[in-house]
Amino acid sequence: MNILITGGAGFIGSNFTYYWLEKHPKDKIKVLDSLTYAGNFETLRPISKKIEFIEGDINNRKIVSESLKGVDTLVHFAAESHVDRSVFDPSTYWQTNVHGTLTLLEEAEKAGVTRFHQISTDEVYGELPLDSDLKFTEKTPYSPRPDNLYALSKAEADRIVMDFYEKTKMYITISNCSNNYGPFQFPEKFAPIVICNLIDNIKVPLHGDGRNVRDWIHTRDHSSAIELILEKGKKGETYLVGSNNDRSNGYIAKKIVNLYGANENMIRNVSDRHSNDRRYAIDATKIIEELGWKPKIGRDDFNEGLKETIKWYRENQDWWRPLLKRKAMIMDSSKTISAYISLDRESGKTKFVFGKVEKNDDSKGVASSVGKIDTEKHFVEQNLIRYEIVIRNLESKKWYQNSSEKIKKEIKSLGINPSTFGYVEDLAGREDHLDGDTILSLEKIEHGDPKYGIYGIGSWFEVENTKKEKRMEGYYSWGWGPKSGAKLLVLIKRRGEITHLATQRELKFPTGAIEYTLPGGLPTLNESVLDFIVRSLQKDLNLSVANNDAVLDQIISLGRLNPDSGMTNNKPNLYAIVVDLSNELYTDVKKGDKFEEDEGIVLWPIEKLSDLINKCDDAYFLSALTRLNLMEIKGLKL
Ligand code: NAD
Repeated sequence: MNILITGGAGFIGSNFTYYWLEKHPKDKIKVLDSLTYAGNFETLRPISKKIEFIEGDINNRKIVSESLKGVDTLVHFAAESHVDRSVFDPSTYWQTNVHGTLTLLEEAEKAGVTRFHQISTDEVYGELPLDSDLKFTEKTPYSPRPDNLYALSKAEADRIVMDFYEKTKMYITISNCSNNYGPFQFPEKFAPIVICNLIDNIKVPLHGDGRNVRDWIHTRDHSSAIELILEKGKKGETYLVGSNNDRSNGYIAKKIVNLYGANENMIRNVSDRHSNDRRYAIDATKIIEELGWKPKIGRDDFNEGLKETIKWYRENQDWWRPLLKRKAMIMDSSKTISAYISLDRESGKTKFVFGKVEKNDDSKGVASSVGKIDTEKHFVEQNLIRYEIVIRNLESKKWYQNSSEKIKKEIKSLGINPSTFGYVEDLAGREDHLDGDTILSLEKIEHGDPKYGIYGIGSWFEVENTKKEKRMEGYYSWGWGPKSGAKLLVLIKRRGEITHLATQRELKFPTGAIEYTLPGGLPTLNESVLDFIVRSLQKDLNLSVANNDAVLDQIISLGRLNPDSGMTNNKPNLYAIVVDLSNELYTDVKKGDKFEEDEGIVLWPIEKLSDLINKCDDAYFLSALTRLNLMEIKGLKL
């Protein structure tokens, strides 16, 4: 076999390269890797004479097509793989994981590669409930809304791979594997953090309640599964790979601490990580029964696998110590290093640091990252250009000057984080007045809980009216990310016809004026949320409905909208729901044209919607309405 392994200088790719060389010493092995902060040529040095190493980016067509010369089999590991980092540097994740995969497929087809294997992850399926026995199988649909950009980009890459298969019928397979452990793993991932911290007598951080579950598999078992898929896997098929070894992070931390011979008080609970899905577990029946795979280390020898890994990190400190100093650079167009991402060992989290890297800092990972990043389009770069202006604007605001030092510090720290910069930019645009009242200060910032499916920020201001009466006013900014919530139009149906659109009039914080808006701005749309909306509508309209029944008649999906005027990159899902009020006893409900100055729910007769459109400047509302108008909804004539 003449095999090209992308990402072979990373954790799993290098383990696979060693495995393949040992099992198939006669094969010609090439490794293509751009040596990002996560790639390490030192890992391959001992076998560098037996393989061909090509330093290059999978997005670079020239390098890819050169590397593919004479190759019949391509195993694609190369990826940006760390969930925490994807929050700070989304464009690189998209560029490598999605575009890079497509480039490889296209070039592989041109080069006549006969076998393409895509390495994927179980994270594409989303999270499973914590206290359940459910497991992912090949039939589990991919999560419609993966929780983080790593998972989202891998899912997108897999879709591209399957589309490519459908179009070309090239011999393609995919494997979605669970959480790997073993030697050569970058010390930012959980198992190496625990081990390396113990070696240095630093407390072991355990995120959240420590109950999050992952299915742990040794990289050697992962490699043997890939080998079998390459030998016997059917084209166009997906295989799930896992060791039936689902364990909580708390269990893993304790187990490693015990095997290491340390005291359990070395474990320290710290706040949760971003996008820490609750549980992943794999049902590997298909690869076991159809291909005859059997993990060698598996669940039974998990202790041995962990002991061997601990031993490896103890004995190979020269390998991992330099990596602790590595910083992944984020560049602006003048190629001045302006921000970097590094690891905080105490919290086990990735830090985004705004500023230049000192000369003495290890810059090993820099050269490759520099060439790789598309600086023109870079997410952070745009923030950098605007940052100074935004901060100056912010500091000129009276409400900001009156806010506590603690709040000011928090706002500024949100400003240097790309995923929350838009929020600060939005704050900086706030005037000192709200519809004639004075905004005194920002009193509280509340962070949305990702576990409810959305990440966002609530801001609470102290406001004073002309009579010097004080009150609190708040608003919510939607966060960046795939789970950006839902907004909806509520339509009212009576006796088979859609007759009204329900709108809400309220004091809108962004403009400080009373405006029409959509009643719904929701973290997600599910049965209980919908039921709540229908009941609230009934209550707000003061409707007395026979049998107490306002009925949810229809849910219409209107796609996603981008962007929000609040935080950057928000893409809420738009829906219209139809509520049947046919059983309503009193037909004389409020009409929009009569209650101009009121706040609260206002019903607009469908035939008068053009009046509303002229008065409304809510982007969600207008987009949702336009999209609705383009669909032929039964009983609705806009
Ligand atoms: P890693 O971060 O350790 O290694 C990734 C490698 O890819 C690095 O050597 C890096 O230099 C290289 N790379 C990144 N961008 C590149 C680019 N644009 N061009 C060329 N090379 C590039 O990751 P890993 O943990 O070894 O994961 C490897 C693969 O396995 C990934 O596709 C990942 O999604 C998948 N996977 C990982 C796990 C896990 O537990 N780590 C589980 C399931 C699947």
